[in-house]
Amino acid sequence: MDCLFCKIAAGEIPSKKVYEDDLVLAFYDIEPQAPIHFLVIPKEHISGADAITPENSRIVSHIYEVIAKLSRELDMKDGFRVVTNCGEKAGQSVPHLHFHVLAGRSLAWPPG
Ligand code: AMP
Ligand code: ZN
Repeated sequence: MDCLFCKIAAGEIPSKKVYEDDLVLAFYDIEPQAPIHFLVIPKEHISGADAITPENSRIVSHIYEVIAKLSRELDMKDGFRVVTNCGEKAGQSVPHLHFHVLAGRSLAWPPG
């Protein structure tokens, strides 16, 4: 499949890895929007948040466990944000489920 994040998960395209296990990969965003900005993706191809089903949803809790672990390891105790854009109008540019994790600066709410 011609999917950028499947290729990154398979190691066919290089990334700056933060964490990896059998199920997920975390890597730094190529265009960081905060001092700390990494993405967490399932290695399995899931097109987006609208493709979560009872069959594949366990990956989401695993991803949040990984995010919590990384928040402790990367000293993000002042606060962080987890964002998943879904669909064109929300700004999803890569059709493979991913969780942005942003930290290291104040983050406005609501988002623009
Ligand atoms: P989204 O726009 O929410 O779909 O997020 C996709 C993110 O992937 C953007 O923040 C991009 O900067 C990031 N991105 C695109 N290509 C790469 C890459 N090769 N390595 C790391 N991050 C990337
Ligand atoms: Zn994919």
